[in-house]
Amino acid sequence: KHGNVKVLLLENISQDAAQYLRNQGYEVDHFTKAFSEAELLQKLPNYQAVGIRSKTKVTAKVIKACSKLLVIGCFCIGTNQVDLDAAAMAGIAVFNSPFSNSRSVAELVISEIIALSRQLVDRAREMREGVWNKVSKGCWEIRGKTLGIVGYGHIGSQLSVLAEAFGMQVIYYDVVPIMPLGSARQVDALEELLATADFVSLHVPEIPETINMIGADELAFMKQGAYLINNARGKVVDLPALVDAMEAGRLAGGAIDVFPSEPGSNGPGFDDSLGAFIPRLRKLPNLIMTPHIGGSTEEAQRMIGAEVSQALTRYLNYGTSIGAVNFPEVDLRAITNADDRHIRVCHVHRNEPGVLRAINEILGHHNIEKQFSDSKGDIAYLMADISGVGEEEVAAIYEAICATRANLLTRLLY
Ligand code: NAD
Repeated sequence: KHGNVKVLLLENISQDAAQYLRNQGYEVDHFTKAFSEAELLQKLPNYQAVGIRSKTKVTAKVIKACSKLLVIGCFCIGTNQVDLDAAAMAGIAVFNSPFSNSRSVAELVISEIIALSRQLVDRAREMREGVWNKVSKGCWEIRGKTLGIVGYGHIGSQLSVLAEAFGMQVIYYDVVPIMPLGSARQVDALEELLATADFVSLHVPEIPETINMIGADELAFMKQGAYLINNARGKVVDLPALVDAMEAGRLAGGAIDVFPSEPGSNGPGFDDSLGAFIPRLRKLPNLIMTPHIGGSTEEAQRMIGAEVSQALTRYLNYGTSIGAVNFPEVDLRAITNADDRHIRVCHVHRNEPGVLRAINEILGHHNIEKQFSDSKGDIAYLMADISGVGEEEVAAIYEAICATRANLLTRLLY
């Protein structure tokens, strides 16, 4: 049943991912380049699944033209290259890989903590300029210092474990209570963390509450001579306020991997649009700036390939939408007895009253073994396993569900 699934992979997605999908029995066409809208309009209507990275734009027009398409895999973190609402309204689930690079980011932060503590970047630059400047003043071991982690999620918690292995004390602040790893300790208020930590590292998402979360007031709370590290999102730190605090000597250093606006391609002039404070920022001593490389490792790329191809497969084979960005997350435990008269109904529909009644009217003649439904915005997704269905009844069930008023896309898996 899976053999007739055709998958289009673009933008040089890893061979491992392509092989994983082929092993499912899917027919996989693999291209190194991104497709333009015109190319997508021409080719994509033949496929049930597409894998892209950040350069292929899947617009509402493309989605409308692709009536066979069931699922889009973004083999990256971001998903704004896809019209998520148009996809949802066409019953197309979109998956990405938000956590595959957590370890890479945590390791970069560890390197930055040591580099800042030893003024490594300034010394290395001086050597390239021919200057020998051996100093120990203001250089420290990190052992015994306190690391304050803001946001104890996938990255923050990994960082916690690594930092303790270096003999650091870890405190963290998060909006939800989270079980500490090792000897880390959660604090109740951001101010408490800022006033206690020698190093503050930010690992919160960019949401309205976190924009400019670290501004002049927060920087003033930090210990004299502390360090600020931002590998989260550029808008979380008020950069002009950071420049003021560093020029005033409040902080001993900082590392910034993310910026309020970032260019789409490599090259000079990345900071042209950031504002008048940029020349001052560039002159700050012991400030490490990197071009959003926190998650940029070979390992993270491989993990992305595995994570997204598995999510695509789970959705195509079992209807599981766990991890989808534009769909309610729905799953049912696997059918354990190998009764081939089981069928799984996967019904994506508009989120409006009366749907369950209409569906159960159709399914009610059979034994509904399990059923689950959830909604997200304008769409909802119902999954049901029914037994006691004769082969000859399957088509009638499918047609009846497709004919219901709120139907967006229905699949029967058996
Ligand atoms: P996550 O969702 O696993 O964790 C985020 C944590 O922040 C959660 O525990 C959440 O409860 C907490 N949080 C949310 N709002 C908060 C607030 N107002 N105050 C305190 N805590 C709050 O996310 P993650 O995978 O750990 O990623 C964290 C950040 O790192 C994200 O912004 C992500 O985009 C960014 N990131 C950057 C790179 C890079 O290359 N530099 C790579 C990956 C992720």
